[in-house]
Amino acid sequence: MTEKNTKMRCSHCGEIGTIREIVYWLPAPNFDFKRYVSGGCSVILDGPNLACTKCGWEGLSGSSSDF
Ligand SMILES: [Zn+2]
Repeated sequence: MTEKNTKMRCSHCGEIGTIREIVYWLPAPNFDFKRYVSGGCSVILDGPNLACTKCGWEGLSGSSSDF
């Protein structure tokens, strides 16, 4: 896992370093909330895999046109 997410800028609020990767499973006891956002227990295919911890924006990492 790289640290590139910490350098990403939110396309909604423009904040840098607030983008976290969403994980769709139950967080483990050592779940790193600083790096990931829990998307809940259910797996959502084609759902957003990135989220902003500041404004709550969610999106796909592949949609580079939004940035
Ligand atoms: Zn944001």
